[in-house]
Amino acid sequence: MAAPTQPLSINLATVREQWTLGEAVEACGRHGIGAVDPWRDQVAKFGLAESARAIKDHGMRVTGYCRGGMFPGATPAERQAAIDDNKRAIDEAATLGAECLVLVAGGLPKGSRDLREARKMVADGLAAILPHARASKVPLATEPLHPMYAGDRCCVNTLKQALDLCDALGDGTGVVVDAYHVWWDPDLAAQVARAGSRILAYHVCDWLVPTRDMLLDRGMMGDGVVDLPYLRNLVEKAGYRGAIEVEIFSAENWWKKPGDEVLRTCIERYRTVC
Ligand code: ZN
Repeated sequence: MAAPTQPLSINLATVREQWTLGEAVEACGRHGIGAVDPWRDQVAKFGLAESARAIKDHGMRVTGYCRGGMFPGATPAERQAAIDDNKRAIDEAATLGAECLVLVAGGLPKGSRDLREARKMVADGLAAILPHARASKVPLATEPLHPMYAGDRCCVNTLKQALDLCDALGDGTGVVVDAYHVWWDPDLAAQVARAGSRILAYHVCDWLVPTRDMLLDRGMMGDGVVDLPYLRNLVEKAGYRGAIEVEIFSAENWWKKPGDEVLRTCIERYRTVC
């Protein structure tokens, strides 16, 4: 398969242990990478205005802003706090010129076993922030996460579920297709096709066998078992022309390597594996 035509983007979590936001943006520019996706804590640490300036100075596209969501809460006050915080995330995304706000739904509230109720809280939370997102021209990109996270992190676990939410909510909503979270889904081809123009971002890394940590042991593309050319072909066939965004949480491997080596490897694997 030929090298991708979609541009490479670096999700800045990939180099979070090596660099500040400013250093990471500068390094991406140095390596000829034209797009990034920063995380809220990185932006908070570096400063919102400073982050926006660094991104603009380097002519970077911002293919997403990570992340909003985390809607379920044990009390109405907790759920309202999440809604307020998501509105702030929308404002930050607009300031940064981000193409979408990435949303991780949230898991079960503390002490709860009611997954159906948690999922309803997600739908309610999305509906509550959507008018602000529309007014700010920041699309809401719901990212289904692998079901192993349903308890603590994300109770939206399949593309079908995320697209059902989008169907109910309408304009200004879409999905993130992240290879790490959806590669196992027997319904993948049909759901990617169904997503069509609602694919707002495409994230890649690889699923390592064995995986040693549920959160922080993601692999570099090509080092695991995900058929990335197949998935890229699916999103292309669905009409996606956005960036291929590398997002790797890797406490014991890639976060311990020099940032320049990580970026060089991302570029090489993007060309040869994605
Ligand atoms: Zn992702």
